[in-house]
Amino acid sequence: MWGAVCGDVIGSYYEVHCTKEYDFPLVRESTFTDDSVLIAAVCRAILEDPRPVGRFSLGERARQYAAQYRRFYSFFPHAGFGNMFADWAKNGGGKTVRSYGNGGAMRVIPIGYAYDTLEQTLLQAKASCLSTHRHREAVKGAQAVAACVYLARHKASREEIRDYVRKHFYPLKESLGELRESHVFDSRTSYSVPPAIQAFLESHDYESAVRNAVSLGGDADTQACIAGGIAEAFYGEVPSHILRFCTSRVDLTIRKTLEEFREKYT
Ligand SMILES: [Mg+2]
Repeated sequence: MWGAVCGDVIGSYYEVHCTKEYDFPLVRESTFTDDSVLIAAVCRAILEDPRPVGRFSLGERARQYAAQYRRFYSFFPHAGFGNMFADWAKNGGGKTVRSYGNGGAMRVIPIGYAYDTLEQTLLQAKASCLSTHRHREAVKGAQAVAACVYLARHKASREEIRDYVRKHFYPLKESLGELRESHVFDSRTSYSVPPAIQAFLESHDYESAVRNAVSLGGDADTQACIAGGIAEAFYGEVPSHILRFCTSRVDLTIRKTLEEFREKYT
């Protein structure tokens, strides 16, 4: 989980100050954003009810995820949430939102750790989207990311993960170098999630995955959150110098939730 949160922290500065440089510095102003807040919310939803769901009980599970999204939003309303999400949370979360933004995919990393089968992982990823991202494109992105984490955690090779994503989700035709040239800020799922997965696929360790994702430009914190979350599951750890830099920049409520989840699931 820290892999995703560290990606969010490192990318936070570059979401505003776009860079295409791989060797960018880690800057003092870096901080956690909505990505980390909602990852903690997903951790809490899983800790409170770890049971698997059936295909026909996704609605109830979606309401449990939604309750935690609203709760964690209320703790950190100024963490960089998009207007659509903030309006949904402020209005009690009763109205389903059909966003196709990458907010559905950025928060699913914990789901990839918590369940015993790929089928259950995909169902939970779908349930986690239904309140705020009830859109085919957003669900697809969330399922792709959760599946990558699940496969990485189960020792799938990079090629096996790539082949799985190509077969079920995205063609992943372009290399990172080709993508970087034209990549701009666009938080639509189909635009920003496949390059984030590609950033992991072309990495050689955790840090290179995050550097790949940030140096695409665009929605840097969310891209690095996704690439970093998959990379941690694949490489097995986040280097200590990165953890040191990031943990002090994350609120204690989030840290405690991540620790509780980590102890139970990793
Ligand atoms: Mg963010």
